[in-house]
Amino acid sequence: MKRVLVLAGTSQARELIGAMPEGVEVTASLAGVTRTPVDLGCATRVGGFGGVDGLVAYLRAERIDILVDATHPFATQMTRQAASAAAETGVAHVILQREGWTPEAGDDWRFVNEFDEVAGIVPEGCTVFLGTGRQTLEQFANMSGRRLLCRVIDPPQRDFPFAGGQFVVGRPPFSIEEEVAFFTRESVDWLVVKNAGGARSRSKLDAARQLGLPVVMQRRPALPDAPVVRSVADCLAWLAAQG
Ligand code: NAP
Repeated sequence: MKRVLVLAGTSQARELIGAMPEGVEVTASLAGVTRTPVDLGCATRVGGFGGVDGLVAYLRAERIDILVDATHPFATQMTRQAASAAAETGVAHVILQREGWTPEAGDDWRFVNEFDEVAGIVPEGCTVFLGTGRQTLEQFANMSGRRLLCRVIDPPQRDFPFAGGQFVVGRPPFSIEEEVAFFTRESVDWLVVKNAGGARSRSKLDAARQLGLPVVMQRRPALPDAPVVRSVADCLAWLAAQG
C-alpha cells in the first residue's frame, strides 16, 4: 500500500484527502497555525518538521512513497523545503496549487511583489482591508495614516500593532453579499489581497468590483522545479500514474 503524505492547510488539500482512492494510506500534515483546525478525516500530524533535515528524517522514518505539497500558494518556505526533501530522499513529489486569479472587466487591480510597496499606492486617510493574514501584519508597518482592518480566523491574543487599526475575526468562506455588507459597514476604500486563487475566496474581489473598490494584489512567488497540478482531479490522475 502506497504511503502518501499531504502537506495541507488549504481547502484543496481537504478535498484531495476526501477523494483519495482505496489502496493508499494518507497522512496529512498541518503547520499548527490555527487553534481549531478542521478535521481532515485521516491521520494528521501537526507542527513543523524542523526544516529540510526534519522532513527528510520524517519521510524516511514513516516510509513515505509520495509527497503531495497542497499548501497555500504563499507558503513559500514549506514548498521550497518539500522540494529539497523530495530531491534528497527520492520520494515522488507533486505540487497541488490552483491557478491564480486574473482580473475581469470592471476589476481595478494594482500588482505588487512585496507588501511594503502598498504604502506607495494607497493614500493616507484611507480604510484598508487586509485579507493577507495575521502573519503579514508587520509588513504593513510603513502604512501609518491609514486605518488597517486585518481579518483573522482565531480571536487575537494581542492588541493591534498599529494605531487606529483592528483585527476582524471570521472564518472563511464569506459570500459576496457578506463581503459587500462588511466593506460598506466599515467604509473600506482599498483591499490588499494575496493572489491565492480559488472560487471560494474570490468573493471579496467580486464584492470589491461591485462597490468599485480598488485592490492591491500580491503576485505569487515562483515555484520550485517540480511537477505542478492545478486541480484535485489532476492530482488524483497524477497519483494514479505513480502505480
Ligand atoms: P511557510 O511560511 O511556508 O512555512 C513556515 C514553516 O511552517 C515551515 O518551514 C514549516 O516548519 C511549517 N509548515 C508550513 N506548512 C506546514 C505543513 N503543512 N505541515 C507542517 N509544517 C508546516 O508557511 P505559512 O505561510 O506559514 O503557512 C502555514 C500553513 O498555513 C500551511 O499549511 C499553509 O498551507 C497554510 N496557509 C497559509 C496561508 C498563507 O497565506 N501563507 C494561507 C492559508 C493557509 P518546519 O521548517 O519546521 O518544517
